[in-house]
Amino acid sequence: MLPDPFPVKSTDYAITIDVEDYFHVAAFESVISPDRWDQYPCHIETNVQRIMASLDATPGKSTKATFFVLGWVAERYPALIREIAALGHEIASHGYHHQRLNHLSQDEFRQDVSASKALLEDLIGAPVAGYRAPSFSIDENRPWIQDELREAGYRYSSSINPVPHDLYGYRHAPRTPFLWENGLLEIPVATAEVLNRRIPCAGGGYFRLYPYALSKQLLQQAARQLAGPIVFYVHPWEIAPDQPRIQSASVKSRFRHYVNLHRTLPRLERLLSDFHWGKMSDLPVVIHHSK
Ligand SMILES: [Zn+2]
Repeated sequence: MLPDPFPVKSTDYAITIDVEDYFHVAAFESVISPDRWDQYPCHIETNVQRIMASLDATPGKSTKATFFVLGWVAERYPALIREIAALGHEIASHGYHHQRLNHLSQDEFRQDVSASKALLEDLIGAPVAGYRAPSFSIDENRPWIQDELREAGYRYSSSINPVPHDLYGYRHAPRTPFLWENGLLEIPVATAEVLNRRIPCAGGGYFRLYPYALSKQLLQQAARQLAGPIVFYVHPWEIAPDQPRIQSASVKSRFRHYVNLHRTLPRLERLLSDFHWGKMSDLPVVIHHSK
């Protein structure tokens, strides 16, 4: 009998968790500077544990996910990161300081992505292949972003949510995986197209805003339209309705951040049972690219 050339189980649906807390988000960047992050009570451990319990309790199977971990979090909660990895999930990088890429120089970006990768690899004793930019802020105008990611040794990026949005970087990007000019693999998160318009359906605030049935319908539509993976994302703070409120933020930022927090976890659990999710590193496109 011939050996199986692809021993890793493949899946077309990837679920991802951006491991950051409520005070790291871009929506609050104008009222909470990074040098004050240590003053806020951090709830990351509890919320990551709750998400891992839900992943493990998926009816009929235990779901494995990709965790894009912020370096700031990994530095303070090393045991948590080791535990995520030990449970069979993929550890990837969400950068170190969660600054949007249009706010960084090339040197600052190099520092951020190489330090976060080295820290995570030291913690888990295994290579880190994936990167996700804060707030999907990769754009096409800074080719040094892709060059630095390649140079740092990343194999793929999942840093594009190709929809119109005031913070995201690249609304006209392809909706399916593609190679940047330097060969870096990019895997955008899921979008649906309705009446020639791109509709976000990959998670975050939209998952909290839409009724669950609509999210499910849009993801099914995306699966029919995209000849490629369906990538979904959630943040640990999104499942925590009891988190401290940042009253000094704008009305728009507070609405985006706080809408329907109490609905996220039950919806996530329905999502886990309605689709067959796996981790990014098991996507066929990642496996083929690394050959
Ligand atoms: Zn983030």
